[in-house]
Amino acid sequence: MITTRVDLNERQLAELKALVDGRLSTSESVLEQHGHDESAAVPGRPSAVVMVNNVEEVSKVLAYCNKELIPVVAFGAGTSLEGHVVPLYGGISLDLSNMNKIIEIRPDDLLVRVEAGVQRNALNDKLANHGLFFSVDPGADATLGGMAATCAAGTTTVRYGTMRENVMALTAVLADGTIIRTGRETRKQSAGYDLTRLLVGSEGTLAVITEITLRVFGIPEKMAAAVVCFPSLADGVLAATTIVRTGIPIARCEFLDAKSIRNLNAYDHMTLSELPTLFFEFHGSPTGVEEDAQAVKEIIEEFNGSEFKWTTDEGERRKLWHARHNAHWANFAANPGKRGLSTDMAVPISRLAEAVDVAMRILDQHPYEYSVLGHVADGNFHCAIMSDPLKPEELIEVRHITHEITLEIIEMGGTCTGEHGIGSGKITALVEETGQAAVDVMRGIKLSMDPHWILNPGKVMSN
Ligand SMILES: Cc1cc2nc3c(=O)[nH]c(=O)nc-3n(C[C@H](O)[C@H](O)[C@H](O)COP(=O)(O)OP(=O)(O)OC[C@H]3O[C@@H](n4cnc5c(N)ncnc54)[C@H](O)[C@@H]3O)c2cc1C
Repeated sequence: MITTRVDLNERQLAELKALVDGRLSTSESVLEQHGHDESAAVPGRPSAVVMVNNVEEVSKVLAYCNKELIPVVAFGAGTSLEGHVVPLYGGISLDLSNMNKIIEIRPDDLLVRVEAGVQRNALNDKLANHGLFFSVDPGADATLGGMAATCAAGTTTVRYGTMRENVMALTAVLADGTIIRTGRETRKQSAGYDLTRLLVGSEGTLAVITEITLRVFGIPEKMAAAVVCFPSLADGVLAATTIVRTGIPIARCEFLDAKSIRNLNAYDHMTLSELPTLFFEFHGSPTGVEEDAQAVKEIIEEFNGSEFKWTTDEGERRKLWHARHNAHWANFAANPGKRGLSTDMAVPISRLAEAVDVAMRILDQHPYEYSVLGHVADGNFHCAIMSDPLKPEELIEVRHITHEITLEIIEMGGTCTGEHGIGSGKITALVEETGQAAVDVMRGIKLSMDPHWILNPGKVMSN
């Protein structure tokens, strides 16, 4: 079991380097780049960064690290938001970005096979040539391996699902170097335990994913976007949850509070009214999207919605979602010198308005600047809370505040994380949410797959 920081000695560095044809770095800038993600978590340093080119190399490196008790943190694009890639116990950062081949696109089966280091924008560029797209869209240009490992979701989840629904099969390497294949390229499978979905969301703690078979979709004939403002966030949230319940097949439904809109206007040169706002997208036939937009318009009027604007213009639609995906950076730009902690709670949609209200009531008792936005149709919302990196005590206090909110959300039947994962920041919340008995089952699984606890130690649960 890894319990203290591991720094590699000269022999280990040389032996590992030989396994990957020299692609091992100990340069300060490379170590720095692999020591943090995009969260407020305190960065660390791996002892070395190892670049792998194929599954055989991953297998050799893991077998070596297992024998030598060296911690291994898989690294995709480093865009995660819970300190996931911070090497808390040193060891190596295993960088998969060279494994970026799109192996096979199969339009007839609506699937694609990719190496784990492929980034989602590159995949979508290639798929577009076949009239296809991959739906899961976290705001960052993450790798598919990282997205599978965190069970990422995004703005289209309401219609197309999260990574859990869209990963069909995996190749992965266990801590001892054993290569396993999970799942099949079929729409249904009922053969044995579902190891694919065990690995999806395992945050690099059970295995290193090297190849993924993903479900893809045909690009819709028509896409339309709509924007509508509300006098209060509660009105907007209630309108959105009503729309979801009526079964209108919305493809995206996002809410942003007035502060988020103000930040987007400044960052992306938009001219949106600075009020609580919902963004929608509709996919279908030209008449279908028009009917869906009209049905939404009728519902939002019941909830005091105003300034309903909709468009089928491709440029305007793209601009709107580009801005939405920039919300994280817009927030940083509005708070220079600060760092943001993003909460990620989700509740059953009937409790969403209440959950947002609870979060804001607690946050309003403290001096920290925050804004709220979320994937409203999934009952998932983020509070981006700013603190001063030069005053570490602020981050500690913000973590206490978010834990207080989390406890109330769990009480409401919700979860501490809808899509970002546990990382190192929500280990206690996981126990509160699932109970110690369930965490003990997870620990048993971890020990059977990674007996020496070398894979991303200090994440998901304590060592
Ligand atoms: C602006 C912004 C917006 C975002 N919006 C969203 C959003 O809407 N929804 C959402 O879900 N997330 C969002 N995120 C978070 C982030 O993009 C996701 O968590 C993403 O899935 C991380 O992918 P990555 O390639 O960057 O992984 P990394 O950050 O490199 O790694 C994440 C975790 O996965 C593990 N890992 C990486 N690759 C592998 C592998 N091949 N095998 C096994 N384990 C691996 C790592 O060890 C680590 O624990 C956002 C982040 C930013 C910065």
